[in-house]
Amino acid sequence: MPIPPTLTPEERSRALTKATAARRSRAELKSKVKSSSISISDVLKTAEMDPAIGKMRVSELLESLPGVGKIRAQSIMERLMISSSRRIQGLGKRQRRELLAEFPSSVEVPASQRGRLIVLSGPGGVGKSTVAARLREVSDFWVSVSATTRAPRATEKEGVDYYFLSNDEFDQAIASNQFLEWAEFAGARYGTPREGVEKALARGQNVLLEIEIEGARQVKAHSKEAILVFLEPPSWEHLVARLEGRGSDSPERRVRRLELAQYELALSKEFDVAIVNDQVERVVEALVALAS
Ligand code: 5GP
Repeated sequence: MPIPPTLTPEERSRALTKATAARRSRAELKSKVKSSSISISDVLKTAEMDPAIGKMRVSELLESLPGVGKIRAQSIMERLMISSSRRIQGLGKRQRRELLAEFPSSVEVPASQRGRLIVLSGPGGVGKSTVAARLREVSDFWVSVSATTRAPRATEKEGVDYYFLSNDEFDQAIASNQFLEWAEFAGARYGTPREGVEKALARGQNVLLEIEIEGARQVKAHSKEAILVFLEPPSWEHLVARLEGRGSDSPERRVRRLELAQYELALSKEFDVAIVNDQVERVVEALVALAS
């Protein structure tokens, strides 16, 4: 065993004060974890900045979670291959990822304060994505970013407009139940990643999904609380002009989209609310009003 350093009385007193402060901040954190007012994800972030928390044992953290005693904490750690003496700051990337997946954000508001789930749908080309982008700018809605197998358009960015997946990746996401809904549209597949939506609703944030009609139906089938909004073009001619003007699509894809649009317009009856897209600002106001 290494010989402890000889400390002067002042050094010893400083060390004691430091140790007391560290103990106090760990106790405070544990009581927040116990009352679910802080999530595991927040603890991991705090640990990066606060060495007193970084040095806390993972077992201590898990045991302070509501409903997780010594035995369950131990079995989780064994399953995630985290050694019993591991400290938070020593967790590897995989271990952090798996711990977060094991305890999805536990900071949840009461059911009555959950966010509203608004599904904006309507025929392709009606201007849904412009409305969604504006809503994201002017409100505190959480606007979901979908995954798709179609190729990115020139101006589109990964993670901002879509998550662009290969067919295999999309298949895997379906198989592991990662989508709240998914559908095929004009030769490509589109899906809403489930996790972000559920977390946003649970922390009380309103959520907007901007998706095609088949997906909207699926959402309503699972979640009666969802409000389905059908965005209508001011006229059929208006919609045709928009689809014709979309230079980024091939002629075959445009024809296919027009056929689909005709079919889709006939489905507006299934929706809770219809809004005519004559002015983006007006539509955005109507959506904000619907959620309040
Ligand atoms: P685009 O290829 O023009 O970006 O989108 C084509 C259609 O797919 C649009 O009607 C759009 O609303 C819809 N869409 C986008 N994301 C999703 C999604 O996650 N799920 C479903 N079902 N449709 C989506």
